[in-house]
Formats: sequence, structure tokens, C-alpha cells
Amino acid sequence: MLDPIQSLKEKMVLACKVLQKQGMVDVYGHMSARVADDRILSTPHMPPGKVALRDLIIIDMDGKKLEGFGEPNGETAMHTSIYKARPDAQCILHYHPDELVAVSVGAQGLKVVANCGVHFYRGTPIYDSPILIRSSQLGDKVAETLGDRNAVLLRGHGGTVVANDLDTLLRLGIDLVRTARIQIMAASLGPLKTHSETECEDMVQFHERPNANRRYVDYYISEVVD
Ligand SMILES: [Zn+2]
Repeated sequence: MLDPIQSLKEKMVLACKVLQKQGMVDVYGHMSARVADDRILSTPHMPPGKVALRDLIIIDMDGKKLEGFGEPNGETAMHTSIYKARPDAQCILHYHPDELVAVSVGAQGLKVVANCGVHFYRGTPIYDSPILIRSSQLGDKVAETLGDRNAVLLRGHGGTVVANDLDTLLRLGIDLVRTARIQIMAASLGPLKTHSETECEDMVQFHERPNANRRYVDYYISEVVD
């Protein structure tokens, strides 16, 4: 049987390659996932789309490296603070797509204007500072702003997404950017119509059925493997 940490590592490398292919990560951005005994698997301080299995590192809940050759990324404190505040969060993506930066500084905030945005119907708060999250004090503030939601925007900086598994994390990570992109496109057409809470709840139930992410994730992964 495949070692569960090895399987998680392989999924993480593929998820980063998908985000790179979609233009959603570049030089910066990072992904992590909780493993047993309060240890965290993380991409290191390097472009996430270029990470190979051997580059992944294991850190503890204080961000100290336990295993691997790479160094922890500069915003590790954001990951550890969120894991401490959210026992339900199993994995985290932090990235800086232009679409998220644009919406993070707009007056409207992120709106559910398309079906790909229904995951975010409970609201996507904005952390109101562009300063990088390089200390546990700042990490705690981002975790506090995130609250019990699945995504937070950081003003003029990017976004952070949390999920229970890597497939869902990848889906939410892509869908958050697509939602922002559609909102930006639609804004030039006049006032926006947004999905109602009832419409979102109806669709979220559909998204949360077992294996709902399989077809979605398989499509994107097929784009990055031969
Ligand atoms: Zn950042």
C-alpha cells in the first residue's frame, strides 16, 4: 500500500503544477498540509510550480523545519497560525494571482457572480494590510480575519484558501481566482447580479457529494501529466 505521506507529497506536487499551468502561482506562493503528530508538509522557499518530491519539507507547528533540504517559506507563520486556529483545516494554499489582488482592493469585495463561486457564499473577508505575514502575530491576525470561512483575501497582496483535503483545496484555489476574474469582467457591464444564498446552498450541496471533485481535479491534473 502506498505510504500516505508519499501519496500526499505526490498530490501536492501535482496540485502546484496545476496552479502553475493555470498562471495562478509564479515565483511566489506556497502550499501545506497537516500530517500526523502536528507536523506539516510544506512547499519550501522556492517557486511552488517547480517543486519536486525531494524538495518538500516537514515543519512543526511553530514553523521549525524537521525534515528536508529546503528552507521554510517566508510566510510560514500564516500557515501555522491558521492550523492552530482551525483544527478542521487540513491543507492551505497561499498565492498572489492578479485577479485576487485586484478584488482585494476594490470596494465590492468578492461576490458570488458565477457558479464557480458558490463555495464562497458565506463571505470572503479581506485582511486589511499588504505587509507579508512573517510573524506569528501577523499570522494570528490573518487566521482571525479568516474565521470559519474557507478563504481570505489579503489587501494588495493575494489570497489564502483552506480545505479538508488537497483535491478540495485545488478546486477552491482555482475557483476563487475564476470567480474574481468573472467579477472583474462583469463589472464593466454595469451593476452585478449575484447568486442568492438559497441558490448557493443548493449548489454547494451538489459540490459536497462524495467524489464530486474527482472529475474536476482529474481534468486539471491531466493537463500537467503526459
Ligand atoms: Zn504572500
